[in-house]
Amino acid sequence: MSDSWNKRTKLVHGGTKRSQWGEVSEAIFLTQGFVYDSAEAAAARFESAGPDEYIYARYGNPTVAMFEERIAGLEGAEDAFATASGMAAVSGALISMLKAGDHVVAARALFGSCLYVLEEVLTRYGVKVSFVDGTDLEQWRAAIRDDTQLVFFETIANPTLNVVNLPEVAKLAHAKGARVVVDNVFATPVFSRAIEQGADVVVYSATKHIDGQGRALGGVILGSTDYIRKTVEPYMKHTGGSMSPFTAWVMLKGLETMDLRVRAQAATATALAEALQGHEKLARVLYPGHESHAQYDLAQEIMGAGGTVVSLDLAGGQEAAFRFLNALEIVVISNNLGDAKSIATHPATTTHQRLPDDQKQALGITPGLIRLSLGIEDTQDLIADVLAALEAA
Ligand SMILES: *Cc1c(COP(=O)(O)O)cnc(C)c1O
Repeated sequence: MSDSWNKRTKLVHGGTKRSQWGEVSEAIFLTQGFVYDSAEAAAARFESAGPDEYIYARYGNPTVAMFEERIAGLEGAEDAFATASGMAAVSGALISMLKAGDHVVAARALFGSCLYVLEEVLTRYGVKVSFVDGTDLEQWRAAIRDDTQLVFFETIANPTLNVVNLPEVAKLAHAKGARVVVDNVFATPVFSRAIEQGADVVVYSATKHIDGQGRALGGVILGSTDYIRKTVEPYMKHTGGSMSPFTAWVMLKGLETMDLRVRAQAATATALAEALQGHEKLARVLYPGHESHAQYDLAQEIMGAGGTVVSLDLAGGQEAAFRFLNALEIVVISNNLGDAKSIATHPATTTHQRLPDDQKQALGITPGLIRLSLGIEDTQDLIADVLAALEAA
């Protein structure tokens, strides 16, 4: 892969390694292990494996390596480690770096499982965690201490789509010697510029836009070669959260079309947000890519786009939200996002059900809130579907 290639070229050709057969589509090396030419060769490889030398699929595999190289090239990261799911990536990125006594500062508006890892798992092993309102730079400034090891946040938070000022939070963290770990799913790998904006580590759930077709769970941790090979790889390969070769192949194929899909999805999200402005059934339309969003300028600075998700707050509360969901004909009710199919979610009763009411309120997860992940269907069909369902609500 050439560094001078533009992103769309990297997404199609980056990381490709061909076998002696010269196949066009990437090969799936569905093998757990590898045969050595001699006993001496086995011993040498265990002592020090070169870049194209494999030992065991939990440690690495050629199809997985193609995926890692392709996504690292896109993100502008030195290296990557592919994982079995997005949560294997989040937990691996954090746990591999932390030890008892370390301090972490995290934004409170997080994906539920990320909150569990920070609140329930890390604290059990003696890591201290402080939570802040991720949109408030003063809270970050007050919470990051000399002994803070890392900060963690989602650049765009689920489901209310608040934007964290990544460059400014990174400056505050780096001033105290803390590392910046970003869960960048909602920004998407297409719009992300997280590394140039100061992130040390970027994590994705590949289940979302990277697969983008609802087929497989996966994740990836991106960062410096030193961090990936000396910190992440030993932890992941010995604890078992590695990506399977078959999943890596699905994700490689997903990357080929990701730019086209995500740009189409974001264009539809923008058109939908515009079409819904001032709608009588809606208390709020939340989309960082629309001028009505309180952080529109920041979203433009950080991503140059608003992403593929629009959240709607129905004035009629949960009953209206349920009537809306049940009236949708194209958009399906589910809880993935970034998929080719448009998906609607009611966070208060599904993804965020576990949160106590006061926390739901603090995070803006109201009874009428719907998270809409726009797919690649026809834009006008989707707008008509949403408008008709709003009528029924
Ligand atoms: C989905 C998601 C995850 C977890 O990913 P899985 O692939 O489901 O394990 C983590 N963070 C965010 C922001 C997500 O949307």
